[in-house]
Amino acid sequence: MRKASARSSGSRTVAAKLNKLGIRREFDLVLHLPLRYEDETRVTPIANTPPGLPVQVEGTVRSTEIVYRPKRQLISRIEDSTGELVLRFFNFYGSQAKALEPGATVRAFGEVRTGFFGGEMIHPRFRALHGATPLPTALTPIYPTTDGLAQAALRRKIEDALAHAQLDDTLPEEVLKRLGLCGFREAVDTLHHPRPGADEEALSGRTLPAWMRMKFDELLAQQLSMRKHYRERKAHRAPALEPPVEKARRLTSALIGRLPFQLTQAQQRTWREIERDLAQPHPMHRLLQGDVGSGKTVIAVLAALRAVENGLQAAVMAPTEILAEQHLRKFSEWLLPLGLEIAWLTGSQTKKERGSARAAIASGKAAVAIGTHALFQEGVKFRSLGLAVVDEQHRFGVAQRLALRTKGEESHQLMMSATPIPRTLSMSYCADLDVSVIDELPPGRKPVVTKLFADSRRAEVVRRIREACGDGGQAYWVCPLIEESEQLQLQTALDTHARLRKEVPELDVGLIHGRLKPAEKAQTMAAFQTGRIDLLVGTTVIEVGVDVANASLMVIEHAERFGLAQLHQLRGRVGRGAAQSVCVLLYQKPLGEAARKRLRVIFENADGFVIAHEDLKQRGPGEYLGARQSGEPLLRFADLAEDADLIEPARAVAETLLAQHPVSAERHLERWLGGRADFSRA
Ligand code: ADP
Ligand code: MG
Repeated sequence: MRKASARSSGSRTVAAKLNKLGIRREFDLVLHLPLRYEDETRVTPIANTPPGLPVQVEGTVRSTEIVYRPKRQLISRIEDSTGELVLRFFNFYGSQAKALEPGATVRAFGEVRTGFFGGEMIHPRFRALHGATPLPTALTPIYPTTDGLAQAALRRKIEDALAHAQLDDTLPEEVLKRLGLCGFREAVDTLHHPRPGADEEALSGRTLPAWMRMKFDELLAQQLSMRKHYRERKAHRAPALEPPVEKARRLTSALIGRLPFQLTQAQQRTWREIERDLAQPHPMHRLLQGDVGSGKTVIAVLAALRAVENGLQAAVMAPTEILAEQHLRKFSEWLLPLGLEIAWLTGSQTKKERGSARAAIASGKAAVAIGTHALFQEGVKFRSLGLAVVDEQHRFGVAQRLALRTKGEESHQLMMSATPIPRTLSMSYCADLDVSVIDELPPGRKPVVTKLFADSRRAEVVRRIREACGDGGQAYWVCPLIEESEQLQLQTALDTHARLRKEVPELDVGLIHGRLKPAEKAQTMAAFQTGRIDLLVGTTVIEVGVDVANASLMVIEHAERFGLAQLHQLRGRVGRGAAQSVCVLLYQKPLGEAARKRLRVIFENADGFVIAHEDLKQRGPGEYLGARQSGEPLLRFADLAEDADLIEPARAVAETLLAQHPVSAERHLERWLGGRADFSRA
């Protein structure tokens, strides 16, 4: 906003309203594009108005009155040379009644419907004409607005901004030509003032070349911002980690030699990608994606060993204690035989335990440190951190990950995610990272059989549990998600636990939920792992990472309340052993449309990437961005599903601009992002 007008309290409230719309600077008004358009370039004779379609009429007011039958309303009758029309208002201001005084000429815009006394418009937009008023020559834009900011006032502000904004192009002519994009000025002009006769379908469907240009520009700004961060990071220095020359010191080779299995093709490829990054003298920031059970852990272990065989330490951080414990178990299994020491650090430890872990980390006695958030608290000092592994990275805030990074000046970072991120999403929102994907499961996995049961068949499900556990198997029972109340969710888990204990008295039924102390949780998990618990009842705390190969049955109660990603994660807890696994989705009727769709997707698909793609379509990108999503709409115009074809060219153009036209790159960023928080993570 221009400063001069921001003084009075009136314009301060206007500024607040504009701010709500994401409009902070004058140029943001140029980028505030219409939701739709109305055609006020023509006047339709009253007798010819088609029912149900928006039209504009012009006539002279015959009478205007406020009546109270059945409730207070303003009724104005207007006529032109062809007929008569009623304008009816249920909410109105005195000034409106006054503008409609008999004899006035008015233009009204709205849909005509057939009322008791002939044609009428309810709540039309109208204005009284004073003297000759030529019809507009462009369609009238209708802008997204907010309470208390009138369309007309917003439109005036936008017109004002358009009149003196710099609209020259930020893209080189050659790029526009190659991609077949129209100029920026042309795009802005077309979208704010489309000529009548413009392809209205392409206009409202946002497929017009002008729209494509705006979407491209937006995606380009995102790419520029993220790739800039990427390039800046590549300018930092980090220890180059290469395999030791001396064969006997190669811990990575030693581990690979001892593995009870062969790495899959996908694991080998991702390990090569990581190896190549680590050998660079610049910090790696690589996201390792892989569906549940695809074998990410062993890759993380290899990366950690690469740091250790170079005389540096590795840290492994997980978002929950259960997950961290699991890493501790896996890492121990593989590292202890190699004679390495691991430090374990969590919030639930005694002061003494924490003290000795910290000492081992500081002295370098511990080659690897594993833990939760406790790893990046004050007072944790690494002797020489070479690599930080961050599991389920989207669960951590930016600040937390940064805190870990500063522990070792410039360490490499390997982030892991078991939530498959659709390619379009990772191409755009993760453009500041390198991405590796393990897109193959270890051989011999039997796909989980998914069954959909209405709640009324619960007894049958309990019978299945009895059979599965009677045969020496184990099962999970996931209690419903209750978003409104954690308390209620806990209560449901307690009730379900009590009920199942009665229903299957011969089984050991355990209970796990978020309110348990970490030590109690760990105890329960250990009991399940060793088979002392047959049936584990729990809330979604068992969603991520829990790995008990003997568990082959999972029941999810009120499955209709869960999101797709969550269902997929939960289902991934079974199907890890040799036995045929089953996942029973219990649902309560009646099912809403969205829930029915979700259950269908999860029932029909096993591939996490397919499910993620559906999830993205159904819920938008917010779910995947976790801590990155600040509430600010990230992409306003481009749609990752519909405009997927624009992402790759935007990435390519971003690279070209940053390398060859840095001034244009800066201008483009300034135009699209201006003062606002940029797209990238820190
Ligand atoms: P996630 O990617 O979900 O973290 P894990 O790393 O926990 O998966 O691996 C799941 C299971 O598969 C583990 O028991 C692991 O030891 C095993 N595993 C990993 N890689 C292979 C492989 N190439 N062949 C056979 N089993 C493997
Ligand atoms: Mg894992």
